[in-house]
Amino acid sequence: MKYNFLRYPGGKTKAVTFSYDDGAAADMRLAETFTKYNLKCTFNLVGLSVERENGLSVDFIKNEILGKGHEVANHGYNHRAQNKIRSLEGVREIVDCRVALEKALGIIIRGFAYPDSIPKKSTEPNNFERIKHYLPDLDIVYARAAGSPSDKFPLPDDWYDWQPTAHHEAPDLFETIDKFLELDVSKLYIAARDPRLLYIWGHAFEFDRNNNWERLEKICESLSGRDDIWYATNIEIYDYVNAYRSLVFSADNTRVYNPTLIEVWFDIDGKIYNIKSGETLELR
Ligand SMILES: [Zn+2]
Repeated sequence: MKYNFLRYPGGKTKAVTFSYDDGAAADMRLAETFTKYNLKCTFNLVGLSVERENGLSVDFIKNEILGKGHEVANHGYNHRAQNKIRSLEGVREIVDCRVALEKALGIIIRGFAYPDSIPKKSTEPNNFERIKHYLPDLDIVYARAAGSPSDKFPLPDDWYDWQPTAHHEAPDLFETIDKFLELDVSKLYIAARDPRLLYIWGHAFEFDRNNNWERLEKICESLSGRDDIWYATNIEIYDYVNAYRSLVFSADNTRVYNPTLIEVWFDIDGKIYNIKSGETLELR
């Protein structure tokens, strides 16, 4: 064996995910559009707004977001920037939001999107390293940032600094999408055949403000319905990648055991394997 690469469900090399913030009324149209195109989105909701049903009703979130396979993640109880408040307040923002959303929706929430700012650039009164330090203790497993657009489509190497590919208003968005769609991982140099992820983020109310909902339709049309793409929420990607990383190999790489509950695909030197939950597989 030379290299072993993660492959998404079905042996796919590409995944697409969306992440939209704040849960305004415009998110209704957004959710319905993603559902119409069989795309998956993570909705980062504000605890207080959900409690007050300010923007989205609890019924809508349950039926049209969670019920259609989208994810709800934490965006702070009052939508306060983590780097602009003390650690104690930052912790409380996240815990209060979790409690509010979990109580209203009957789910368990592990995802987070940083509200209002780019924590990496922060210095006072809180800083990125301190924020990242307490997130795991709050059972937050990933946190989406926003600030370093990239057309390399990597999976995050730091789950607490998960950088999207682009905002939906990015001027070169459709060039980026074309580049992603045209990418053939199997034709790249043997050490560069990592799985790829296209990650688009934004706010639904921006489509209202800019009066350009047709842009969303165009994004969805260009990305949907492709056999070579896995459409997943942020937490589905996190859980899948961690299942892959939990595989247990024999010393000589001829045997692998899957201790997780998730069926996992991987590529060894161009051959695709899949291993079911609890299975031990001989690699030949
Ligand atoms: Zn926000």
